[in-house]
Amino acid sequence: MNIEEQIKRLREELHEHNYNYYVLDAPVISDFDFDMKLKELQGLEEAHPEFIDASSPTMRVGGTVTKNFNTLVHEQRMYSLDNSYSKEELLEWEQRLKRNLGDAPIHFTCELKYDGASISLSYENGSLVRALTRGDGFQGDEVTANIKTIRSVPLQLRGDYPAVFDIRGEIIIPLEGFKKMNEERINNGEDPYMNPRNTASGSLKLQDSAQVAERPLDCLLYALVGRDLPAETHFELLKKARTWGFKIPMEAKLCQSMEEVISFLEHWDVHRHELPYETDGVVVKVNNLQQQEELGYTAKSPRWAIAYKFKTEQAISVLEKITYQVGRTGAITPVANLQPVLLAGTTVKRASLHNADQIKKLDIREGDTVFVEKGGEIIPKIVGVDLAKRFATSVPTVYISHCPECGTALQREDGEAQHFCPNTVGCPPQITGRIQHFISRKAMDIDGLGAETVELLFKEGLIENYADLYTLAKEQIIPLERMADKSAENLVQGIADSVRIPFERVLFALGIRFVGETVAKILAKAYKNIDALMAASSEDLMQVNEVGQRIAESVVSFFREEKNRQIIGQLKQFGVQFSLTEEQLQNQTELLKGYTLVVSGVFENIERTELKKLIEDNGGKVSSSISSKTSYLVAGNNMGPSKRAKAESLGVPIISEADFMKLIQKT
Ligand code: AMP
Ligand code: ZN
Repeated sequence: MNIEEQIKRLREELHEHNYNYYVLDAPVISDFDFDMKLKELQGLEEAHPEFIDASSPTMRVGGTVTKNFNTLVHEQRMYSLDNSYSKEELLEWEQRLKRNLGDAPIHFTCELKYDGASISLSYENGSLVRALTRGDGFQGDEVTANIKTIRSVPLQLRGDYPAVFDIRGEIIIPLEGFKKMNEERINNGEDPYMNPRNTASGSLKLQDSAQVAERPLDCLLYALVGRDLPAETHFELLKKARTWGFKIPMEAKLCQSMEEVISFLEHWDVHRHELPYETDGVVVKVNNLQQQEELGYTAKSPRWAIAYKFKTEQAISVLEKITYQVGRTGAITPVANLQPVLLAGTTVKRASLHNADQIKKLDIREGDTVFVEKGGEIIPKIVGVDLAKRFATSVPTVYISHCPECGTALQREDGEAQHFCPNTVGCPPQITGRIQHFISRKAMDIDGLGAETVELLFKEGLIENYADLYTLAKEQIIPLERMADKSAENLVQGIADSVRIPFERVLFALGIRFVGETVAKILAKAYKNIDALMAASSEDLMQVNEVGQRIAESVVSFFREEKNRQIIGQLKQFGVQFSLTEEQLQNQTELLKGYTLVVSGVFENIERTELKKLIEDNGGKVSSSISSKTSYLVAGNNMGPSKRAKAESLGVPIISEADFMKLIQKT
């Protein structure tokens, strides 16, 4: 077989496996084998650039940077949908249909309304050639490179598809992936995203497609557009499109009557929380395409379809007071303190107000009667104000201009929603927050020292920054409240022991904004010691894989600060690790770059911690919990049954110690 054929065959195979995994959710080979094949293909394509193909499975990893997205005209307009909120409105709609269509029976397809960002995909001869956002419905932005990174979007169709057509759908972030993503952000000192929909829609416009590839995006499709579509009903088209490789949720149902439609609504009104993604309603469509054509469109929407919106679970409460929290990074979060109210099974006392714009937009004031909702977000939010109940004496909320903790004038950077207290060195919650981060388990892991003790030590004037921890003597600590002799000793010992913590964790512990665990590891590996890192310019830093402008600027500005340089100097003197060890410098490869592994159980020839280190030394990521992003579960003896079950249900391949050694080419 010549190289070209070999490449072609690998691509076909990988497309097929990708489809089995991401669309059918039924993989037939292990991820291990899949990755091996993908690597093989990548290697061949690199060696033979003459065979590069825009539909190759290797395109999924991204890497294209788009500075300006082209605006292109939709060949057929993307319409909006009329909304309805009650069964009565649906029955009225049916009456209108009957007036237009006469006595012919009308069947409906019911689909869930996916809550994301609309997209139109164009296929020619089975290849994805273009992806446009909805824009204003007449023209949208071309985001093809970004869309190609989404695993459930087929790059190459299968079976008997029309030569040219468009397919429309919604780019969403499933709830599980959204939760994970936010946990990571909070860990890195970043603000969590507000909701899956806005995040999905923002992702489409990221300039670097490699960043898009990192996000847990999914694409659910719901409509075909084209000249010669091979069916007479919408439902048949959906079924056909599934066979071509598109992800079309199986919840879609053909209903013979409005009664069936209504029972579909009633069912999903109750069961929608069991879905892996957010939905805010049901879309009811006249099934017959001929009938659709007869009904046509109004100025804004098709007459043959209507959205039915679910009522969101809402509670009414009184906003007693707006308070402001100052985070470790100085970010200010306004919080609504509410009269306790029951909502979706829990008592709610506080709701997030997000930021100043949100308060202004909804004109939220203290004393107001407000509507509270729980969506995909973690904390409930205020969605509106009952103006009829507002007191005549009420005054608009004036957002604070100064830090509630230290009195410094707040700042707000261009393009950022959040206000910040810039007094990083003198603002108490920022100081203690930084020290608390420094000692935390994933950072310096200092035994015997808790968050409250940090506050106490700070209040007593014993510490002002994390370097001061290393000056603490037992005699200074014993007089503190509730501090026994033994605990004081443990504390001092714990601090002393922390000088053994490796460089990459020290780097994470410093609390540089946007430098989370992963970025810290990457930087430690790239620069090997703190002096090299401190000398790096923004441009240098941006050469490092996965480091963008935002991270680079944050690193540079952290080290530019005289106070930080001083603290680092002190830490060095106390013996804290500021470079990779000789041992770390050896044995490093990138064999596992882009892989996330979970380790579980007991191993025959290697310690668990050693195994984890091997993963990282070879460029892989170690994660503690299994998700759909996990590349492999490395299983030893006596692995917990729940881990195995989770891996099996998500189709995460389970490999042995020996398989792993093969993976890093150590047999
Ligand atoms: P709206 O933005 O409220 O006018 O709702 C119309 C939008 O709902 C469309 O532009 C689609 O992007 C979206 N949508 C979500 N799910 C579906 C579905 N199953 N069928 C049609 N449109 C849908
Ligand atoms: Zn402050």
